[in-house]
Amino acid sequence: MATAEQIQLLPEVEAFISQGLIGAWIDGRAREGSDGTFTTLNPGNGQKISEIAACSPVDVNRAVDVALETFNHSEWSKMPANERGVLLHRLAEAVESKKHVFAQLEALDAGKVLSQAEGDVQNFIDTIRYFTDLAQHAQLRNVLAVRGHDAWTVRHPWGPCGFIVPWNFPFLLVGWGIGPALAAGNTVVIKPAEDTPLTALYLGQVAKEAGIPDGVINIVSGYGETAGAALAGNPKLKRMSFTGSPEVGRMVAEACGRNLVPVKCELGGKGAAVIFDDVNIPETAKKLVEAITFHTGQVCCDATRWLVHENIYDEFIDECVVRLNRIKVGYQLDRGTQMGPVVNEKQRQRIIGYLDKGTKSGADFVLEGGACEVEGSGEGYYVKPALLAGPLDNVAAREEIFGPVAYLGKFQSESEGIERANDTDYGLANSVWTADLARAQRVAEAFNAGNGWINAHNVIAHGIPYAGVNNSGMGGGVLSPETYFDYLRSISVVRPL
Ligand code: NAD
Repeated sequence: MATAEQIQLLPEVEAFISQGLIGAWIDGRAREGSDGTFTTLNPGNGQKISEIAACSPVDVNRAVDVALETFNHSEWSKMPANERGVLLHRLAEAVESKKHVFAQLEALDAGKVLSQAEGDVQNFIDTIRYFTDLAQHAQLRNVLAVRGHDAWTVRHPWGPCGFIVPWNFPFLLVGWGIGPALAAGNTVVIKPAEDTPLTALYLGQVAKEAGIPDGVINIVSGYGETAGAALAGNPKLKRMSFTGSPEVGRMVAEACGRNLVPVKCELGGKGAAVIFDDVNIPETAKKLVEAITFHTGQVCCDATRWLVHENIYDEFIDECVVRLNRIKVGYQLDRGTQMGPVVNEKQRQRIIGYLDKGTKSGADFVLEGGACEVEGSGEGYYVKPALLAGPLDNVAAREEIFGPVAYLGKFQSESEGIERANDTDYGLANSVWTADLARAQRVAEAFNAGNGWINAHNVIAHGIPYAGVNNSGMGGGVLSPETYFDYLRSISVVRPL
């Protein structure tokens, strides 16, 4: 399906994907899985990329044993932060030197437009550097001023930590997970999503070349119900981090609860954008169209409910429709593509299903989306952007669709805008759009969500806590100094004087 403008795969990418079987990564080398193999497909054309080792519970438990053994008996967990930092900076440099290889693997596997995949890889590198540098300055020993006692607390890494990640940001989210855990001196076991295992598995090899000791980073490719469930239920883990759907998050949290393993859950969203009548309409429309089409709308914190002040509703929506109609849907490695495919046929059917259910239960199409074909892209999983409007209790306004679909509603007053934004089971991220910064602050602070953004959406930066409430998550969130401290346990030491 090569076209004149298609970006060619690098020799390293060709070599990695065309080795007969890509193994799981346990104790510093690639392993076959005892649950057989599975195939990862290119969402842009539906064709096979590679065959991947599927780990059974036995393999997963072995990976956790290796991570525990490495934690207990290697230098890794005992190193001072400066020495571990040298190794982690080498890891960041090694990934940076292969940035284009990681980005092409991610684009192929997840259907990401290449420039967006490159952004994700850069984010991984920045995450490792951020937490590594943070660890150099962290206060791990604190004296307590308590009369009659010599007392202090001291922090140690926990031990082996588990990470289960989804397919929408496969490599970026591995970084968000393991960055703070490794910087604190823990060892890790990662379960990538079965749709997108390539970059995580390539990381194993790159980490070894960078000098990360064997057994510190283990990667157990496989199915969610087997490999994922085995990891979530392993009692030797000291912490678990799950990113994915609320349905699976509940199962993972239950399994961890039975073993009293502390768990973080970063889950889905149904974010709102509250747009007042004093905005620059073309500028705001441009940014929200970019947000809903970025990675084909498969973004947990996206603005999927656009609540527009009734004074500008018609003008704003007309502007958005014009811009959405101009979005170039195409193969993820074609130059000029703005929106690539969704990750698989199941996800495409989910989007089509919500458009169908939504319109059958009272919503109208403002812009009709649905499945589409891209010339020369075989069985690729493509959809067009869609806008729906109607009552806000519609199923398409309440449930997470995870595609380039926004649901439109109107409001009149500030309090009504806030109330409508907060009328959801989720609580990940909302945005407010207005020229009045005092109002922006009031509204952003009133959101019942982990993140409130002003005149922007999908704003993520290292150092700013990112977390969800209600069905969007629990357990502390990611990306901030607090996340680093989550990966250290504290012991109080006391001597009566
Ligand atoms: P998913 O819940 O289906 O799968 C996530 C991971 O869990 C995969 O690795 C999967 O193999 C594994 N898994 C599946 N069944 C399991 C089981 N029984 N036990 C243990 N693990 C199991 O989610 P998805 O479809 O891959 O990802 C999309 C979801 O992720 C959306 O809801 C999205 O909003 C959410 N998400 C949230 C964030 C955030 O930071 N809050 C970020 C990205 C994605």
